[in-house]
Amino acid sequence: MCELVQKYNVPGPRYTSYPTVPYWEDDNFSGKKWRSSVLRAFEEHPGEGISIYVHLPFCESMCTFCGCHKRITKRHEVEVPYIKAVLKEWELYVALMESKPVIKELHLGGGTPTFFSPEHLKMLIEGILQLGKKAHDIEFSFEGHPNNTTKEHLQALYEVGFRRVCFGVQDYNLTVQRAINRIQPFENVKKVTEWARNIGYTSVGHDIIYGLPFQNCDDVEQTIMKTNALKPDRIAFYSYAHVPWLKGNGQRGYDEADLPSAVEKKAQYEMGKRMLTEFGYKDVGMDHFALPTDDLYLALINGSLHRNFMGYTPSKTQLMIGLGVSSISDSWYGFAQNVKSVEEYEDLVTHGVIPIFKGHILSSEDELLRRHILNIMCQFKTTWTEEEEQVADFQKIRENLSELKSDGLVEIKEKSITVTEKGRPFVRNISMAFDLKLHRKKPDTRIFSMTV
Ligand code: SF4
Repeated sequence: MCELVQKYNVPGPRYTSYPTVPYWEDDNFSGKKWRSSVLRAFEEHPGEGISIYVHLPFCESMCTFCGCHKRITKRHEVEVPYIKAVLKEWELYVALMESKPVIKELHLGGGTPTFFSPEHLKMLIEGILQLGKKAHDIEFSFEGHPNNTTKEHLQALYEVGFRRVCFGVQDYNLTVQRAINRIQPFENVKKVTEWARNIGYTSVGHDIIYGLPFQNCDDVEQTIMKTNALKPDRIAFYSYAHVPWLKGNGQRGYDEADLPSAVEKKAQYEMGKRMLTEFGYKDVGMDHFALPTDDLYLALINGSLHRNFMGYTPSKTQLMIGLGVSSISDSWYGFAQNVKSVEEYEDLVTHGVIPIFKGHILSSEDELLRRHILNIMCQFKTTWTEEEEQVADFQKIRENLSELKSDGLVEIKEKSITVTEKGRPFVRNISMAFDLKLHRKKPDTRIFSMTV
């Protein structure tokens, strides 16, 4: 395993989209094309419902490991103007549609959604729902910070339909918490987890990270023991993405030398995975684990598991609209990203402009390769046809796969591959075999994190 880790630990995408953001071709993209693709997605699947992601970018303090797009402030006066801007952006999208959109999924991410007061979050959700209709099988979820989520936040969001919450835990060791500037005692996580359960949330998730500065296998073991004591329904067990060249000073609070090596990191993952499996969790796609009763695992079993900019989700909607600063939308035919500055975002939407600044419209080759990458990421296997071999360069894909096969990471039949048990930790590398854009042109900068 050590040699495999060394061999396959290369920069690579996490495939929350295909093509990945550095390969979006802006020259085939325009606001007009984007709006048409939104309309097309909406009209083709009127009954399916849409997903909405709302990015709430503010945090009171900076966690040094953080890769999210955020703004650090203690000034809570920013809440109302920002919510008004998000509601205005939503109004601009609804104006494109001929009937009220059915809202199936809604996720609040950040930043820290619980930076906002319960009243303001309720105002935001009620404003969104006013222009749409709730689907009968809604899936509303949010990311809660264990240090500032209150009973009132949980209650207010429960009242407007939220049943799933995910708390960022990372690691319980104090040295690691100091290095990442996120001091968060177990008692805080226990308290918010119990509140959520008592209020009626049916899925409580915890995020854990391995590969953090000063973290070792004992820390991961202790963190998983404590996590298991609270038995969250879902656990995201992420690899720390060290990309300080992309994320500015936030990740420069420690040296590379303070990070575990790739081999130590892999050992942390293997140990964590073994413990989670022993505690009854099922492995769902890359870095996600769930109890057998949780929707995410049931989706894996029934083949409906999907992956998008929000990560893994139990079902797919054709249209996902990302509202708020830096959010990415996905119309299935194209992607678009919003501007990243709060001031520019608020200014554009106030002037009636959908605030996108870049995007990509998918070619037929992109659509085909996306299908295979999604199959690998969500089902650990994929099958292609003879016709598809005429559209994309499968000779190159076969070449890319041959080494993965020799290393026992995939089994290849004539027109299909299956990821082996040994290959599961390398699912990003296996997906890269189908990423023809990546093989045609290496990215200019160290844009991706390491795959291991
Ligand atoms: S990890 Fe979360 S709370 Fe910490 S800075 Fe990043 S977005 Fe903010």
